[in-house]
Order: sequence, then C-alpha cells, then structure tokens
Amino acid sequence: MTEQEILSIDRNHIWHPYASIDNDMPIFTVDHAHQATITLKNGHTLIDGMSSWWSAIHGYNHPRLNQAAHQQLSKMSHVMFGGLTHEPAARLAKQLLTLLHPDLNKIFFADSGSVAVEVAMKMAMQYQHAKGLTKKQKFATIRSGYHGDTWHAMSVCDPDTGMHNLFTRNLPLQYFLPQPSTVFGASWKVEDIQPLKNLLELHHQDIAALILEPIVQGAGGMYFYSPEYLHQAKALCDQYQVLIIFDEIATGFGRTGKLFAYQHAAVIPDIICLGKALTGGYLTLSATITQSHIAETICAGDAKCFMHGPTFMGNPLACSIAYESLQLLIENDWQKQVNHINELFQKLLLPISSRPYIKELRILGAIAVLELHTPVNMKTLTPRFVEQGVWIRPFGKLVYLMPPYIISPQELTQLITGMINALDDEYGVTP
Ligand SMILES: *Cc1c(COP(=O)(O)O)cnc(C)c1O
Repeated sequence: MTEQEILSIDRNHIWHPYASIDNDMPIFTVDHAHQATITLKNGHTLIDGMSSWWSAIHGYNHPRLNQAAHQQLSKMSHVMFGGLTHEPAARLAKQLLTLLHPDLNKIFFADSGSVAVEVAMKMAMQYQHAKGLTKKQKFATIRSGYHGDTWHAMSVCDPDTGMHNLFTRNLPLQYFLPQPSTVFGASWKVEDIQPLKNLLELHHQDIAALILEPIVQGAGGMYFYSPEYLHQAKALCDQYQVLIIFDEIATGFGRTGKLFAYQHAAVIPDIICLGKALTGGYLTLSATITQSHIAETICAGDAKCFMHGPTFMGNPLACSIAYESLQLLIENDWQKQVNHINELFQKLLLPISSRPYIKELRILGAIAVLELHTPVNMKTLTPRFVEQGVWIRPFGKLVYLMPPYIISPQELTQLITGMINALDDEYGVTP
C-alpha cells in the first residue's frame, strides 16, 4: 500500500487513542522500528523518546526477543489456560517471582494493564467478602492517578481527567484523596497523610482497598512523590483491614531507578499489577500478583475460586517473549543503563530548565518531565519534533522522555537537543 492509501483508510475508519474520529491531528506512518529508532514510510528516522508508552525497554526488533517469538511460534502461539499449562507460563512465573519480594507469590496472568487492575480490584473484593467484611465494596485512591480505561479501572482514575462527570450514573463512586504534596526527595510533611487517616477512620467499613501508583504517577500527571507516603499508607491500611494495591504497570522493570518502585519505600503491597514493559513492548500481557494468605482466603470464600479467566490468559507467545525480556533486563545490567540515562538527563536538561516556557523540570530514573506553563498545541508541536528527528508525544502541559534503556549516549543527546530545538521554535525562544 502507498502511504496515501494507508492514511486515507486510517482517516476514514480507524480510531486512535483518546482521539476524535474526524481527526485533523498530524499522524505519521511507521514502516519499521529498530533499536531506539522508528522509521517512517517516507524514510525519515526518528529517535524514540517514548518506548511506545513505557513498554519497549530493550528497543525495537531485538534479535533475542525475535528469536524467542520464532521459537515459540513453531510450537504453539496459543492454547487455552483452563485445565492446561505450559513451560512458557511456568518459566516466566518462576523468573518474575525471583525479582519480587518473596511474599508476592501467586500470579494471575491477564491480557492488558487495565485488566490486571480489574483483576486486582476483584481480588480485593473477594478477599474482603471471604473475610465476612461484605460491606467493603469501595476503593480509595489519590487524585491525578491513572489505572486504565476499563470500567472499574476508570473509576479510580483522576475524576477530572477521567471525565467522571460524563459517566457518573454508571461509574462506581470511589474515595479520592489529595495527591501527596511531598515530592520525591523532599522532607516529609506530616499533614500529607491526614486525609487518608481521616478517610479510614470514618469509612474503613466500606473500603476494600487503597490503590496507588507507587512513587510515580504516570499518565495522570507524571508526578513523583515521597516514599514516606507509602510507608504511612501501608500502616494505616493494615490497621483498618484495607488492602493496598500497587499499580506498577508503568513503573515496573527499572524505569524509576529501582527494579520496582515499591523498593524505594521497602513497602510490600498486598497486590501488585505489572504490564507494559513485561514483554519488552512486543505483545500485550499483564500480571496481578498477590500473597499466599490472600489467595487462600479468596479461595476459601463462597465462590471457592477466583472469578476471572480471560480467553488469552497466560498466552505462551507473550510469556516466552516476557521471559526473554527479563533475561535481557538482568544481562544488560538495567541499573547501569538507567543510571546512564539519568546522568545524561541531569547534564543536558538542568542547564535549559530556566527556559521561560518551562515551569518545572523533574527527573527520576530514566524519566524526565518538563512541565510547561500551558498545555502544548499538539498540532503545531508534533510536526516540529518529527522535523527534528525525534518521537515525543506530550500530553497537556507535560513534555516527557522515557527512552528505551538501550539508547546510546549519542542518540539520547540528539533526542534531548531535538526536543529543546522544537520547543524553542514553538515558543519563539532564541537560545
Ligand atoms: C498504562 C497503564 C494502565 C493500563 O494498561 P493498558 O495495558 O493500557 O490497559 C494501568 N495502570 C497504569 C499505571 C498504566 O500506566
């Protein structure tokens, strides 16, 4: 197909994420992607600053991940998980659990991040029900969070950006707490925990779990908060028989500078959700992992089982690639990769953080966020990035980078320079 044909079908028939169907926003046709680059159909190559939404940590078209896929394809792409099991799932489970705290040891493999969150919320409800705490039907969370787009996941997303008013008659009403104001690395402000304390004192009887993105709030605002909040929240949740769910779909696998963000606080959640980078960006796969005593309580309840089972559960192809991606993470020394990215972010971004259009620069692990004063104009800014040879997709006031871990120092320098050049052009700043 010619690029024109592709674009015409796309324009006339295909939805894109959070987009209008008569979309007049710029859109670009990708031909192929390799390592840290994306090549467009017109031959133009872009350095990737997004890792395809936190997922492609080892870059694109990786020979080892390709090989894992080919090998598994020649055996079976998929087989049902009801009553059947296979080596790809067992091998992945074993490897994944060695990376997590030993208390987290019962895995549910689901098909996307949002589903992993639904599964975690259902686990919490079934657990409380089995304990006889049947009134515990609601969830608490903090504002500016993002947990996915399915119904209950959406109910714990930020009510404003999640447009809850549009869905109010159908969406379960949850409890929203203010975002902790103590940022990562700052000294703890004791008043930050007060809202949760008050909420649990008043309403613990009807709260099944508190769900949070630990340390880094992703798509809800790219905000980094204090590990102390997690400490205090865990203690309060324990006191009031409220489970704590960590949604590490974005933060997992090294992105924040720890393998899992909960390790910044050394707080072990009751349930953890993983996704995005789990398969190195190859296929959709997620995992919801809980502790033995929770799993056992769920299964001693009325249902005698956990009530969920997607068609593509434990997909062997995805599990094989995920296993290989974990191997790469370890062999490539992810900590060193992330540190290198972090150092270059500090070196190249700190000097430009006084640009008039930048309100705040935030850097943690392999994440850099420029918060601007006003929302960007995607229609004018996106083509400027592409012209500069970089792929960056801001949202609202946030322009951020989270490149693949394998990005070279030269590429990362080009990525940052391209970003700044495009922003300077957009805002008429002469450096
Ligand atoms: C992306 C994301 C999800 C949803 O994952 P999908 O695979 O898009 O359904 C949930 N929680 C967090 C924190 C995420 O970043």
